[in-house]
Amino acid sequence: MELIIIGSGPAGLSAGLYGKRLGLDCLIIEGKNPSQATLTEELENIPGIPKISGFDFIDILKEQVKSIGVPITSSDCKKIIEKDGLFEVHTDDKIYTTKSIIIATGASCKRLNIEGEERLTGKGVSYCAVCDGPFFKDKNVVVVGGGDAAIEEALFLTKFANRVSVIHRRDELRAAKLLQKRAFSNERIEFILSSVLEEIIGENRVSSVKIRNLKTNEEKKIECDGVFIFVGLSPNNEIARGILLLSDNGYIVTDEEMHTSKRGIFAAGDVREKTLRQVITALADGANASYSSFLYLKEDV
Ligand code: NAP
Repeated sequence: MELIIIGSGPAGLSAGLYGKRLGLDCLIIEGKNPSQATLTEELENIPGIPKISGFDFIDILKEQVKSIGVPITSSDCKKIIEKDGLFEVHTDDKIYTTKSIIIATGASCKRLNIEGEERLTGKGVSYCAVCDGPFFKDKNVVVVGGGDAAIEEALFLTKFANRVSVIHRRDELRAAKLLQKRAFSNERIEFILSSVLEEIIGENRVSSVKIRNLKTNEEKKIECDGVFIFVGLSPNNEIARGILLLSDNGYIVTDEEMHTSKRGIFAAGDVREKTLRQVITALADGANASYSSFLYLKEDV
């Protein structure tokens, strides 16, 4: 194999598309968790496509990649071992040998690590409004976070929930102004600012949350049926640890051409250190990573 692409989100699929068009013998290994893009209800910022669901976008892209003959297999990649100038990719059921690798494993939602969070995950605590929102028809839910994800998902949840309380630790949101404007004018959304979630309460299901106002230190309980947590992402970097240079936050350090600290291994998308984590930047990363792999393989001949 000339190129193994680990990950099948926008970055990995774009890498597959470009890799194949460059004539590389490539394979995409898809992990068990869906990409962040798949979980996004609506993508409105892909130039040329005014509106599409994240699921549909990935589905179309995957079909496009498959249709040109890029194989996609599902497996959990465990480790990479360098051997005689080649790389071995160890998955849970197989070992693949390849000349180059693109790591496009993305990022996952961060946990708050507060009492009740782990115990009640799947019992009212969720990290995916698109997946779980419909279960909260006419119920009251809490959304934690002030970034694009939190505000976008809060807006989505108003399709089902009776009341959506957004709890954010500062008195100003981080989300894009357009999203903020929509959320502020949505009467089903209430904002509880300068406040943090301290505990999620419930016997077998979420029944309430305890919050604390950071300015007054006042604590209060809010009755609710669901808690949606969107407090940022952490990189899925397990496969890169110990072999590649990572940033302080654990993202893979690359240059503009997606070279990592190890020749022959490239990184693309949310897993790499960069400023703007969006579908469009992931798509571009994938294309650049494949092109760099192509140049690397040409040098190697
Ligand atoms: P983010 O932009 O990092 O925002 C995380 C939010 O959670 C921030 O408001 C942050 O507060 C808060 N937060 C972090 N740790 C917390 C904690 N321990 N307790 C309470 N609050 C905490 O993350 P994101 O919204 O998941 O977005 C991730 C990336 O995806 C971003 O680059 C974003 O632009 C992109 N994205 C884009 C779209 C879109 O374009 N439509 C949609 C979704 C995501 P502070 O503000 O105080 O730091």
